[in-house]
Amino acid sequence: MSSFQEPRVYLVGAGPGHPGLLTLRAVECMAKADLVIYDRLVSPRILEFAPAGAERICVTDLAPHHVERCPHVNEKLVEAARQGKHVVRLKGGDPLIFGRGGEEAEVLRAAGIPFEIVPGVTAAVAAAACAGIPLTHRLHSSAVALITGHEDPEKPESWLDWSVLARFPGTLAIYMGMSRLPQILRNLIDNGKPGNTPAAVVQLASTGNQRTVSCLLSKLPAEVEKANLKSPAIILIGEVVSLREQLAWFEQRPLFGKSVLVTRPKGQAGEIARRLEALGAQVHLLPTVEIQEPLDWGPVDLEIDRLAGFQWLVFTSVNGVDAFIERLRKNGKDLRALGNIKIGVIGSATADALRRYHLEPDLMPEKFRSEDLAKALRDKVQGQRVLLAGADRGRDVLRLELSQVAEVIQIAVYRQIGAVIRNREPLESLGRGEIDFILVTSSNIARSFAGALDEESRRMIESGRTRIVSISPVTTAAVQELGFSVAKEAVEFTSEGVVEALLELARNI
Ligand code: SAH
Repeated sequence: MSSFQEPRVYLVGAGPGHPGLLTLRAVECMAKADLVIYDRLVSPRILEFAPAGAERICVTDLAPHHVERCPHVNEKLVEAARQGKHVVRLKGGDPLIFGRGGEEAEVLRAAGIPFEIVPGVTAAVAAAACAGIPLTHRLHSSAVALITGHEDPEKPESWLDWSVLARFPGTLAIYMGMSRLPQILRNLIDNGKPGNTPAAVVQLASTGNQRTVSCLLSKLPAEVEKANLKSPAIILIGEVVSLREQLAWFEQRPLFGKSVLVTRPKGQAGEIARRLEALGAQVHLLPTVEIQEPLDWGPVDLEIDRLAGFQWLVFTSVNGVDAFIERLRKNGKDLRALGNIKIGVIGSATADALRRYHLEPDLMPEKFRSEDLAKALRDKVQGQRVLLAGADRGRDVLRLELSQVAEVIQIAVYRQIGAVIRNREPLESLGRGEIDFILVTSSNIARSFAGALDEESRRMIESGRTRIVSISPVTTAAVQELGFSVAKEAVEFTSEGVVEALLELARNI
């Protein structure tokens, strides 16, 4: 028997902010967490990787700021681990680089609690990559020093020997140096670092709010002040900084500097969010509707039992496909119950959902909306029996149209209800005028979203500061009915289509 004990606490590096820069191991650890204790700098997008029911605690909520707060974190870690919880201690960047991860590991070891340490992309590495500055380079730099600009104020004397650092033969990366930037640079220059060494400050590296200033070392404090750069930021000093001129790429992406609010339900926003982030946008998630089971499965089960009596089965959403197939299974049936029934779908996303079950749709309209689906189906379903599986408060167009030529039964396989908004941060950003675009992907979402708005956020939209991009004419009509205007409508009524529309809008303003 091995004496290996499963870890109880995972000291996990959350990376510099961009969710894509989490490690796979970090995501695995998060997925199993009962409790996540996270640092103030960890973004909400990253906390999404923990299960919905997991407890989330920000260290700043554990106790008053500063020196005394660390024992509280340690106590909480030990206490939760002893209760048998799977604890993730999530730290910005890498847990062992200026993150006190070492101290927490020491406490856990002393308490006999098994742990695992998951490395993360540290801020200096991310800042360099995202600013187009190679930390090492065959011609310019053969070493990197990671330095703190803010040592423990309790320490009697500095451990940093600036005369040595000034002569360091490579790139300097200084963490936590913003509040003491002028003194730090003075120390370096007084100790012989040439004032004309290229230098940069990268704020909020890897996020949609990244900002960079680069110039000569001696000019850095003035330039940083002019640009109003603040913590968290990394200071990079060395010849390699001059390569940024050719290698900058981050700021050149089409949605760089834009903030986008995505209102889709939880679990369905990820793909759009990743696409927008890859295009450079800062993404805020505000799920405004929630998908739930119908209150009564009776009518659905009844039709599932007599599926053989239908010639057509029609789906108008991904949720409809998933909910229907899941219910088949709950009824002890599988795909064979569909027999030779023909399947119609409203659009490409619904078709893809079907293909995940190895089913190929028999019909999909050219334009992805109910009117076009009805038109495409009309000739095919003459005198036949059609089962429509959708949401409880979907549109009625399809049923009304098809009922003229066929026998139509409509069942609600899921419900959409207004979501309880747990994280109000996105709405607050909207109210402060920090959001450039809102993506609205259905009329239900439009209505729930409008219901969640406070006066300030409403004003931002009405004044045109924040623009709405809509997925289709039906959604546009719903948005307009609520008293808002739509700046751009998708040509193709899919999530790719709505991102395309946003790109075009951003290009033209
Ligand atoms: N463990 C972290 C560092 C924690 S110290 C890591 O490995 O990255 C906090 C400092 O990290 C900040 O003061 C800032 O200097 C730096 N930092 C953290 N996130 C950053 C980011 N996204 N961009 C630039 N600097 C960042």
